[in-house]
Amino acid sequence: MTTTYAPETFPRRWLPEGVELKTWDQIEPWYQKLLAMPVDTPEQVEAWLVASGELNAVVGQEGTARYVAMTCQTDDPAREAAYLEFVREVEPRLKPYLNDARNKFLDAPGRAGLPADRYHVYTRSLENRRALYREANIPRETRLAELEQQYQKAIGAMTVEFQGQERTLAQLSPFLESPDRDVRRQAWTLAAERRLVDRDQLEGLFDEMRKIRLEIAREAGFDDYVAYAYKNRERFDYGPEDAARFHEAIEKAVVPLASEIHKSHRSRLGVDSLRPWDLAADPLGRPPLRPFEDVERLAEGAEAVFRAVDPELGAQFAYMREHKLLDLANRKGKAPGGYQTTFEADRLPFIFMNAVGVDSDVRTLLHEGGHAFHTLASRGEPLAAYRESPLEFCEVASMSMELLGAGVADPFYADRSQSERSYRKLLEGIVTILPWIATVDAFQHWIYAHPEHTRDDRRAAWRGLVQRFGGDVDWSGLEDARDHSWHRQLHIFLYPFYYIEYGLAQLGALQVWKRSLTDRAGAVASYREALAVGGARPLPQLFEAAGARFAFDVETIAPLMATIGDELSRLAP
Ligand SMILES: [Zn+2]
Repeated sequence: MTTTYAPETFPRRWLPEGVELKTWDQIEPWYQKLLAMPVDTPEQVEAWLVASGELNAVVGQEGTARYVAMTCQTDDPAREAAYLEFVREVEPRLKPYLNDARNKFLDAPGRAGLPADRYHVYTRSLENRRALYREANIPRETRLAELEQQYQKAIGAMTVEFQGQERTLAQLSPFLESPDRDVRRQAWTLAAERRLVDRDQLEGLFDEMRKIRLEIAREAGFDDYVAYAYKNRERFDYGPEDAARFHEAIEKAVVPLASEIHKSHRSRLGVDSLRPWDLAADPLGRPPLRPFEDVERLAEGAEAVFRAVDPELGAQFAYMREHKLLDLANRKGKAPGGYQTTFEADRLPFIFMNAVGVDSDVRTLLHEGGHAFHTLASRGEPLAAYRESPLEFCEVASMSMELLGAGVADPFYADRSQSERSYRKLLEGIVTILPWIATVDAFQHWIYAHPEHTRDDRRAAWRGLVQRFGGDVDWSGLEDARDHSWHRQLHIFLYPFYYIEYGLAQLGALQVWKRSLTDRAGAVASYREALAVGGARPLPQLFEAAGARFAFDVETIAPLMATIGDELSRLAP
């Protein structure tokens, strides 16, 4: 018998069923009512939290539904207008009310009687927000948003002429996988040279951004931007010294394995030195893997993988298929990329992606599936804020599923050598991305720890880091491109310091996976228990619930790399 899934429903406790909350005129009176509620006793505060969570969820779901509808069909003007109306008419007016609601909770006389442990994570976050908030920073943030938009515009406008057609740099990436080395070299070189044309503009934008960021930090009472950024990203459980330990551990425990992967890639490709345009090519010049023909097959196959990992997770995915909580196929008019989002009031996940029939589509669906299981696992949590987890742990949910799913019976590849090729690609990708994450993170620490630096100093710092973490890639004759290669990492421009999260989460996911090789049932059970905690506990405890350590030192990383090394040596090329 196959397991089925029937999700619990959550009747409203404050808002009347069926109340319409689509326009600001409909929404505002409810926030006024919320702010007028008494919060003098612990019971009143808890009732207020229920009301506030419910209202935020219903309004949030209105925005989410419009966003989903718009991304599923960007060429429908009505959907676009509906989404933009929400962004322009509702969101800005909502912000002051959310700010008042936060203060109402923090200043509530009844809060003192609440169980401190239960509300620790929630209160810590709100107190931090309030402590960082400065009215004088609002115009600075507006200016930053403009500069960030100029960066995106500059990158988006970059095109080159390749094989008789004008193409964006993103459209060049399939050519980097070509078995023909000349095609790869041309595509790579054109993209790198095109970026260099705008280097002064990009460096100028960045210099202005970091100057404003420093002003924002000083306004909020910090001496430097690093300390401010850690608080702003709610990094309560690790600091810059842990990041430095992570960089060292990557250098010692990961870079050697990455170099070995580069060496074997080079010898399989049969080239004298590994150039930047060789990295994405198949080492044996084979055509790309074709795991499925149409998205029905993709969904069916993914369900089989999830059922093999855990019958209940498989049943949850079957529920999502049945209730149209997936939009998987690439088609004209659909927004690019992939994401998992949550319909907050229904507490149900939705997966969006652009599948075209390649190996990475399977990985994307397993990844987003992990996020969806996280949403479903924590949906019974009464405090709305705890139905979301910190990013560092959300990505443990998704990245673990990529790894757990790669190790089970494969419905996508008839031939074992094909599924091993796919698995190898996943593991090698993990080993080679970690040093890049360390490079980007160490660079940002350097930038903001040296506020008086010149552009030449900055180039030298980046070059040093590429040498430290870059493995066996031969950049000779490409020094200019190498020294500016950080220009393409949008996080450095748009989301300062946001990137190491993926590295930390990957270490958690690798620990779940390593355990699954000898104790699959135990690893999956802890994984599911940890997902059910949502965001109710601090990060180290979330990792612990998943059976992993929240640590990024050599002692944690070296055994993970040793296991990957063992797996790689037994897998087909
Ligand atoms: Zn993710």
